[in-house]
Amino acid sequence: MFEDLIRAWDGEEVAIHYDHPSGAWMFVCIHSTKRGPADGGTRMRVYDTPAEGLADAMRLSEGMTLKMAAADIPFGGAKAVIAVSKLPEGDERRRLLLSYADLAASFGGNFHTAPDMNTTSADMDVIAERHRYVFCRSIGRGGSGDPGPFTARGVFHGIRASAARVFGSADLAGTSVLVQGVGSVGARLADQLAEAGARVLVADIDAERARLLAQRIGAEVVPPETAIELECDIYAPCGMGATLNAQSIPRLRCRIVAGSANNQLAESEDADALGRAGILYAPDYVINAGGVIGSWGTESLGWDADTIEARLAGIGNSLTEIYERAEAERSSTNAAAERLARARLGAA
Ligand code: NAD
Repeated sequence: MFEDLIRAWDGEEVAIHYDHPSGAWMFVCIHSTKRGPADGGTRMRVYDTPAEGLADAMRLSEGMTLKMAAADIPFGGAKAVIAVSKLPEGDERRRLLLSYADLAASFGGNFHTAPDMNTTSADMDVIAERHRYVFCRSIGRGGSGDPGPFTARGVFHGIRASAARVFGSADLAGTSVLVQGVGSVGARLADQLAEAGARVLVADIDAERARLLAQRIGAEVVPPETAIELECDIYAPCGMGATLNAQSIPRLRCRIVAGSANNQLAESEDADALGRAGILYAPDYVINAGGVIGSWGTESLGWDADTIEARLAGIGNSLTEIYERAEAERSSTNAAAERLARARLGAA
């Protein structure tokens, strides 16, 4: 199974490690080093089979290559997955992370990592004990901490650019925006939207989290199960991926989809279905690049706060360019974004 997956993949290198004491599998997939060292988060997750973890790492690493190219950041794409049978805690988590750090370090400077699903800045502090190239360590340990605020800021700029495209103005006053998932990114995005005068609707499977946020910023809580059927101007998925699929798209009653979630489209054809439904789609890896811009910019590229804010605002400009290209090429916005990123890869 591993062999078939690796042969069918177009990336550069895969390392596989089996951690005997815990039964965890570790996969580091280096998709592309064409634009620079390969960077990507470390995801820890329970999968039905180890092969699913490998397939996830391969797919996500390609997404990182495109994200870095679309954001015009001089790094390539990678991803690591630690496939566990149960999320470890305490000493066992530390032991596993150190073992993983040795694997990551075996790539030298060619693999840089950061938090992803189920890993945190505190985990990055542990990995950094043995691997030099780790982003988003805790601020107290000299890192840039949680990338969520940067990501939220980039999504905010992306939403403004998308509103300008559809409604003729980037001013969000009076515009209704549904934020689905109000965690690290979604809560901060909702904050900025409320400040900009938007009518903010929030949905989260953690009802208490949604209630507290709504109370603080004057938003309206909507039930998570039926949230996407709500009539609103903009739907911002900031929870889990694959919310856009053949079943959900006909139920959408918005004009724009623009949120932080990774892998929002279940299938690439879903981008065409959104276009046919008259819904503008902000490609996920373009609009959610703020975390990479902020963390990599601060820690590796020497950017100051003004430069980072300008680059985050640049996400809006990139989306505007992608929307114009999609119209001119009569393609989906997703296809236009991929062509832009691949052109940069070709030029690297
Ligand atoms: P998080 O775990 O802090 O928050 C996710 C929130 O979504 C939680 O409050 C959770 O309860 C909620 N949620 C989960 N399933 C839901 C559902 N079905 N309906 C409604 N709410 C649901 O995660 P985050 O860091 O805020 O990231 C959000 C999304 O953005 C993820 O898909 C992540 O991969 C993506 N992303 C995050 C960053 C970043 O910097 N944190 C960068 C790029 C992409």
